[in-house]
Amino acid sequence: MILVSSCLLGNKVKYNGESNDNSLLRRYGRYMTAICPEALGGLTIPRPPAELQNGDGNDVLAGTARVKNKLGEDVTKSFIVGADRVMDFVKKHKIQVAILKANSPSCGNKMIYDGTFSGAKISGQGVTAAMLIRHGVKVYSEKELNEDTLQRIVAMFREE
Ligand code: SF4
Repeated sequence: MILVSSCLLGNKVKYNGESNDNSLLRRYGRYMTAICPEALGGLTIPRPPAELQNGDGNDVLAGTARVKNKLGEDVTKSFIVGADRVMDFVKKHKIQVAILKANSPSCGNKMIYDGTFSGAKISGQGVTAAMLIRHGVKVYSEKELNEDTLQRIVAMFREE
C-alpha cells in the first residue's frame, strides 16, 4: 500500500479548504491510500495556517520546538496526535512508502516553512514526515516524482 497526502489527490482538506490537486498522482490514486494528518489530529477544515517554530518535526517530536498557527495559538498537540494516528495506520498495514506534500508543516519531507509566515523555507521535515522517516518509511514529495519514478513505486508497492 502507498500512503499519500490527501490534498494531493484533490481532496479539499488544506488549511484554506482547498486541495493541492496533482493530476499525475490522481491518475494512480486507485493504488494509494489518502491521509491528512492535520485532519486526523482534530484540526478543522478550513483552519488558520500553521508553521513550526524554532525547529523542524524532529524537534517537535523531541519537545524542543512548537507548532503555532497564524493567530499565535499553539497547535502542537494536534500535530503530534495526527502523526501518531498516521503512524498507527502505517504499522497496522505495514506501509513502506509514502508520497507527502512538499513544504507542509506536517507532510514536508525535506523543506518546511520557516515559522515567519512569510513564505520563506528552511531545510527540515514536517511532524508526520519526521515520524514516518524515523520509523523507516521511505518518504517522497510530489516534487521528486515524475511518471517513470511513480510507475516504479506503484509497481513495487501497490495492492490491487
Ligand atoms: Fe495536505 Fe498534509 Fe496539509 Fe493534510 S496535513 S492538507 S495531507 S499537506
